Amino acid sequence: MLMQVYKNIILMGGVGYDCNTYLIDGEVLVDTGTGIFFSQMKEEIEAMGYDLNHIRTIINTHCHFDHSGGNKKFRDWLKAKIAIHEDDKEAVETGSGTLAHLFGQTSKTVTMDEVLENGDKIRTENFIFEVLSTPGHTPGSICLYEKNKKILISGDTLFESSTGRTDYPGGSKIDMKKSLEKLSKLNAIYLLPGHGMPKIGGVSFLTKQMLFGRNRAEFI
Ligand SMILES: [Zn+2]
Repeated sequence: MLMQVYKNIILMGGVGYDCNTYLIDGEVLVDTGTGIFFSQMKEEIEAMGYDLNHIRTIINTHCHFDHSGGNKKFRDWLKAKIAIHEDDKEAVETGSGTLAHLFGQTSKTVTMDEVLENGDKIRTENFIFEVLSTPGHTPGSICLYEKNKKILISGDTLFESSTGRTDYPGGSKIDMKKSLEKLSKLNAIYLLPGHGMPKIGGVSFLTKQMLFGRNRAEFI
């Protein structure tokens, strides 16, 4: 499923266990899914009509296999650099923290090309996304925030109506709470999560609901 979720941002909705993949300006690919559906995704991207040489960066929002399993195939195809937050780097490089076994798969060892830190800027033709360190789901989980356009790409930290799990290795309820507090202070309008549908409007309200509301996340 392809959807333009914002002008120049395409969502490829995850099939099966795959996460959502976002293509920003035909330049930056966010998350690569498990890799199981790589050939279909490749066809879809080719059909979009972008110059594939312009896709130069692949960003993993975190180390889990449903977001990083396709890294090797995408890098081999696009000759793009792969980046992840430093606190998830070892987990994805060694495969030890990808939870691939939960998907009945084995991780391929992939060396990261770049390491991301809180505050780093990802610039494309029409966007400047800032890397926000949002640990809790994993130690190196990140969100990407476009301040001017109020777009939040939230990985597995925040979904349309829930938060990411904190009970996998490296997860932390305390960190997740702090990360949600951080997100609640943004003025995000467009929430582009790692799974499920995007949400337009009410993002700050959603984070406050997760923190304080009747249906607040169980970690409070
Ligand atoms: Zn995850």
